[in-house]
Amino acid sequence: MNTVEPILLTPGPLTTSRRTRQAMMVDWGSWDERFNQLTASLCEQLLGIINGATSHHCVPLQGSGTFAVEAAIGTLVPRDGKVLVLINGAYGKRLAKICNVLGRSFSTLETAENEAISAAEVDHLLQADAHITHVALIHCETSTGLLNPLADIAHVVAQHGKRLIIDAMSSFGALPIDARQVPFDALIAASGKCLEGVPGMGFVLVRKASLATAAGNSNSLAMDLFDQHSYMAKTGQWRFTPPTHVVAALHEALLQYDEEGGLPARHQRYVNNCRVLLDGMANIGLRSFLPAAIQAPIIVTFHAPKDPRYRFKEFYERVKAKGFILYPGKLTQVETFRVGCIGHLNQTDMQAAVAAIAHTLKELEVHDI
Ligand SMILES: *Cc1c(COP(=O)(O)O)cnc(C)c1O
Repeated sequence: MNTVEPILLTPGPLTTSRRTRQAMMVDWGSWDERFNQLTASLCEQLLGIINGATSHHCVPLQGSGTFAVEAAIGTLVPRDGKVLVLINGAYGKRLAKICNVLGRSFSTLETAENEAISAAEVDHLLQADAHITHVALIHCETSTGLLNPLADIAHVVAQHGKRLIIDAMSSFGALPIDARQVPFDALIAASGKCLEGVPGMGFVLVRKASLATAAGNSNSLAMDLFDQHSYMAKTGQWRFTPPTHVVAALHEALLQYDEEGGLPARHQRYVNNCRVLLDGMANIGLRSFLPAAIQAPIIVTFHAPKDPRYRFKEFYERVKAKGFILYPGKLTQVETFRVGCIGHLNQTDMQAAVAAIAHTLKELEVHDI
């Protein structure tokens, strides 16, 4: 256990390997041919993860994940388009807020935070409203850890001839998504989640035919993915100053991703982390918020202990002193906290985290769990 640099049990920024951090020790020129190659190879690898090299482009964008989500909606949804936003948590709500800010017409389908979105309900709503052009979905709703049925929803959306935009921020690279089997227009993710890079860039894997017709849709200069892609296709360079160190770190993280065994290995490691966490916490008496069937192996929400001696802030500080950073809950109705399973961590780390949590609850004399 390392008390100097605590392990982040958070869904991004997350714990990265020393090798990934080491890759940031070089200053790259944004013009340099070698840096352009780094970007090109990065994009190729990202498309490879979804088997999308022939059908999709990879458009990287400076900023946190939300920048890329906003850019995707602003670029792909025409100004007279309409989005059906599927909501069962905070990130789904953020999609609706983006549509609102961008002035794109939208309607919502909102379900409880412990219930997956139903593809049948999406079917009904698309049947009922012909104005809808796009559907926006959160794959793994990171505010709880809930996994939505992406493939079922994608097929319903395609049957209606509508276009799907997927926020796969916290699932990409760890949960399988195959562009040859799951139809979608755009999938958005970022450097600092399951790929175990550092935060600072997002990317949109966008259907080539959809990007080709998206010129002039965006109300923004910097967030126009059509322009970002055209410029990069022409020059090999980013349109504005690239996050060079972030790109280099992600490139290095992707080499390690491949060495580990790619998606199946990354998925299995997170599944193991999640199982050790769930079993260990159950032994302490801590209950998870979601039913097992819709729990993604990415982040787990736990009910806070009922004991009045429990206070998140002190619990957090004491667990941190033992080497682990927890994550606060993001639910309004029930008191919870979250523990991430992703990052450069394994089962041994998760066992140590559970032990630190158990020890802390004892210290705080929290008995009524
Ligand atoms: C992390 C995340 C985002 C992006 O959040 P940022 O803070 O902008 O990086 C978006 N959607 C989901 C589902 C996420 O987990």
